[in-house]
Amino acid sequence: MNNFQSWVDRWVGLSGHSPEAVALIEERIAALRPRMIWLYLLIILYLLGVELSLRNMGMKTWNAVPMVVLLVVRLVYWVRHRRTIFLGEHARDELRRVAFGALAIGVGYLILLAVGATQTDAVTWQMLLLSGAVCAIAAAQTLSVFPASGRIILLVLGLPTSLMAMFCSANIIAGVVGFNLALCSGVSLYLLNLQDHSFRRHIVLRHRSDADTKRAERAEQVALNERRLAKAAADTDFLTGLPNRRAFLTAVERRDCTAGDDTVLILDLDGFKPVNDTLGHAAGDELLKQVGNRLLSLVTPNMFVARLGGDEFALLLSGISGKGALAFADNIVAVLGEPYNIGSSTVGVASCCGVATLASDCDDPTQAMREADLALYRAKSKGRGIVEQYDNRLGEEVRRRSQIERALRNPGVEEDIDLVFQPIFTLRTMRIEAFEALARWSHPTLGELSPSDFIPITEQMQLVERLTENLLVRALVHARRWRGRQRLSFNLSAVQLCSPGGATRVLDVVTASDFNPSRLQIEVTETAMMNDIEAARRNLSLLREAGVKVVLDDFGAGYASIGYLREMQFDELKIDGSLVEASGTPHGAALLRGVIDLARALGTPCVAEHVESIDQVNLLRKLGCDYGQGFWLGRPETGAIAEALSRLSLEPSRNWRRAG
Ligand code: C2E
Ligand code: CA
Ligand code: CA
Repeated sequence: MNNFQSWVDRWVGLSGHSPEAVALIEERIAALRPRMIWLYLLIILYLLGVELSLRNMGMKTWNAVPMVVLLVVRLVYWVRHRRTIFLGEHARDELRRVAFGALAIGVGYLILLAVGATQTDAVTWQMLLLSGAVCAIAAAQTLSVFPASGRIILLVLGLPTSLMAMFCSANIIAGVVGFNLALCSGVSLYLLNLQDHSFRRHIVLRHRSDADTKRAERAEQVALNERRLAKAAADTDFLTGLPNRRAFLTAVERRDCTAGDDTVLILDLDGFKPVNDTLGHAAGDELLKQVGNRLLSLVTPNMFVARLGGDEFALLLSGISGKGALAFADNIVAVLGEPYNIGSSTVGVASCCGVATLASDCDDPTQAMREADLALYRAKSKGRGIVEQYDNRLGEEVRRRSQIERALRNPGVEEDIDLVFQPIFTLRTMRIEAFEALARWSHPTLGELSPSDFIPITEQMQLVERLTENLLVRALVHARRWRGRQRLSFNLSAVQLCSPGGATRVLDVVTASDFNPSRLQIEVTETAMMNDIEAARRNLSLLREAGVKVVLDDFGAGYASIGYLREMQFDELKIDGSLVEASGTPHGAALLRGVIDLARALGTPCVAEHVESIDQVNLLRKLGCDYGQGFWLGRPETGAIAEALSRLSLEPSRNWRRAG
């Protein structure tokens, strides 16, 4: 059965399952669908016509009725399916039925003719033959989009009837017409092939171009999806799932300027690194995720939150600025400061926030990012949990700072930095006991620069060690010339104080300069020591072992002085200038007394700095302070003047008169 079916399929052109073959079958049935209605109407009307003519001639036959009924059933079927789209095997089955229908119509008509031959005269029968042939040719043309069915109807009905009309002719004209119709049937067969060839070609080409278009569309869709995924990946921070720096910059650049001024917040966690170091990276990652979630829980639709990288996050607040933005930043810092549960540990981190306004007419939005960064930098320098807003003063500071940085990069800049020497007096005798070396940089365009401005920058640029050694060498050259053999007091920066070879390098310079280490004293601050207390302790004991005195500078200005005093040995305490300046009030005087008493209790001599009046001198003497330094006693002077002063101080009474 299957073999028969596949043989039939091959014969009627319905075999093949390639996409092109299926497409051809579907196109055939689609083109055939409207034609089937006309075909059935044609045959039904034709049969009814014949039936009526025969009745006119007085023959009462019902021969055509069964066939007409079947044809009407098929007609109704095709009317109902005039809009149905037949696809795949369904389309193939439908075409099989069409082919079978063509065969059935052909055979049915032949049967009618055979029956008619016994009932009619020769001429009428011949006419029936001829009209059958005409009908077959018309039907074949209607079926041209499925030529197999056309061929069936021509072979079964068209050719036989026209040949019979030609050969069994009772009348010569009917014979000639039969001949013509046989010819027409032959031509029709040939035309069916020809038309089908171009139909196939047309369909195959269209199918190919459709397939190409579909393939191109699919490829485009795939590429589009890939691009979308790649963009999403490029814009997302994988750890927190938040947008990343790139996405944030885009959001800032494309912001809607119509809603008024916007604000950029940049947040940085304080204490993230210790969590990472002590609990491990997985805990650090978890902490960052939780921070991201807290930020997400705080934002409203007019805000954009992103992780810039590391422990840095950013927010863009659209249409919010001024007090509203600051209040929001305060809230964020408060929420991020709440404890975090990570595994079995509870972790606390604080955050700092830099705030910058993005004016609606601002044409460089990245400027706000830089400003928020600067504000953050200042917030961090102030402590934990601080919110700082960018203002022009900060901008000015930063500009100057970067100018100083640039100037410090010039080769040989150390030679442009001079030294001045400020005398330190024994308050009892008013002799100059020591000179403190202070750096001075007078820059052609930046003007007079304070060491407090440029020393911290040289520390960050890792230039400070070279500069300090250079300054120390020069200071020692001066100090060797001091006639009264006064001590040289030299400030050591935090970096040097805490660097492993810091003390050795200082001692090497002292030895190379052939300077007696006991004439050198090093001033250090507790904030400098805090960077690495152990390294500082080692350096200071090396210096003291070599005979160098160690002075704790700015004593009373920090927080933990008493602790350091217990832990470390200092040869002298330098009372911070702020305590001396405040000594004019009873409360200030009491404080100063307390500090001096503390030094006395420790058995450590003390020196007061920023002594600016005779009253302060008298008070300090009364309180038992050993040494004094300040503008009233003597300003920082050039090396030459310091040398002259060193001689003067050999005669204390004259110096005292000068000071008075
Ligand atoms: P410091 O060690 O506390 O130095 C004392 C500062 O007070 C000096 O400022 C000095 O000029 C100033 N001063 C002295 N007498 C008075 C006074 O009566 N009233 C007032 N208001 N100020 C007075 P300077 O020279 O600007 O130095 C500032 C800081 O820079 C120094 O503070 C010191 O920490 C650092 N520094 C200065 N030179 C060097 C250096 O060569 N190396 C390092 N590492 N740091 C230095
Ligand atoms: Ca000092
Ligand atoms: Ca000081």
